[in-house]
Amino acid sequence: MIKRGYYEEFGGAYIPEILVSTFDELEVEFRKAKKDPGFWQEYSDVMSNYSCRPTPLTFAENLTRYFDGSKIYVKREDLNHTGAHKANNVMGQGLLVKRMGKKRVIAETGAGQHGVATATMAAKFGFECTIYMGEVDVRRQRPNVFWMERLGAEVIPVTEGSRILKDAINEAFRDWVTNMDNTHYVLGTACGPHPFPEMVSYFQSIIGKEARKQVLEIEGKLPSRVYACVGGGSNALGIFSGFIDDDVELVGVEAGGKGLDTGMHASRLSSDDASIGVAQGYKTYFLQDDDGQMKETHSVAAGLDYVGVSPILANLNESGRVRFESATDSEVVEALSLSIKKEGLIPALESAHAFVQAFKEAPKLSIDDIIIINQSGRGDKDIFTVADAFEDPKWKEFIIEKAEEYHA
Ligand SMILES: *Cc1c(COP(=O)(O)O)cnc(C)c1O
Repeated sequence: MIKRGYYEEFGGAYIPEILVSTFDELEVEFRKAKKDPGFWQEYSDVMSNYSCRPTPLTFAENLTRYFDGSKIYVKREDLNHTGAHKANNVMGQGLLVKRMGKKRVIAETGAGQHGVATATMAAKFGFECTIYMGEVDVRRQRPNVFWMERLGAEVIPVTEGSRILKDAINEAFRDWVTNMDNTHYVLGTACGPHPFPEMVSYFQSIIGKEARKQVLEIEGKLPSRVYACVGGGSNALGIFSGFIDDDVELVGVEAGGKGLDTGMHASRLSSDDASIGVAQGYKTYFLQDDDGQMKETHSVAAGLDYVGVSPILANLNESGRVRFESATDSEVVEALSLSIKKEGLIPALESAHAFVQAFKEAPKLSIDDIIIINQSGRGDKDIFTVADAFEDPKWKEFIIEKAEEYHA
């Protein structure tokens, strides 16, 4: 057996026999596209015309002065269309779907961001679109469901299991098995069976390519450290890839939730709570019990609340190339508050995890050091979650009044 798609012991493609030819077709198309210089050109053209790329590398002057340590720069993935780096992945996969001549896309979504991004791509390229979402998440994330439906997607609430993300992934695979001839499954992060981890990180590498060029143009030298939050791992791999061969320290920040000692977190690589296993078609560190049952995870940031992690990152953890840390919910809210007040930047709760670790380390570095924080997404579109995290009493009043208007 050829061990395709392994990163040392992590990765692989543990898929049902019936899907093997579909995965082969996808991999062949991806390899062809990757070799074709015209494809990357087409991809970057779409990204610049439709999604504001290249995104700026912003000097955070006030935060730099405040922490009085290293220079702090922020890579602005929040300025992508639909508000996060997820656009990079879905638009890239959309172009591959066009090349394969398929007419329908499906996707799983937890918090709904990947669902909205996929539905947007489908609207733009004229694909039929079905989004699988746990019933619990459908209830929790109504604003995103609203947008997916307006964009023309069919949102199917999944009532199996715990009715959350992992159950939505299972349903999406079930759909794919039935409809693989005309359907592509747009996986949302650098996880799942090969070639998804490689393919998703390839599209996200546009972040790192730009960031490296920009920091060299602005500062004439490379940063000392680069910080990114880690859910599945796609925004982190995207920015890290630009610096992986350089003498630059790479720091991934996972969801520490209510604290690593409470068990209520989603830290796979920065805690001792995860172990190696095979699930959802690939091998990595999962938060699972001794019987391989997935544990409950928790984070204030829905996008980081996931039991597995990219096999590429699991390997970079093992080799020591990437350092993993975690940030708790309360640290995240504090860092978010600070970046809003000091810099006028409104990072998503996910991205704010990277800010936490950068803020801890910046004061210990000198002004000759540069650090880059990847702001993976914007927080203003998450007003419901952010307002809840801040426990703003006037926001609660507003929601209650709104509800009363509907009752009247
Ligand atoms: C989905 C999401 C993440 C987590 O996904 P990765 O694959 O780990 O990048 C992080 N930040 C934002 C803003 C997101 O929407």
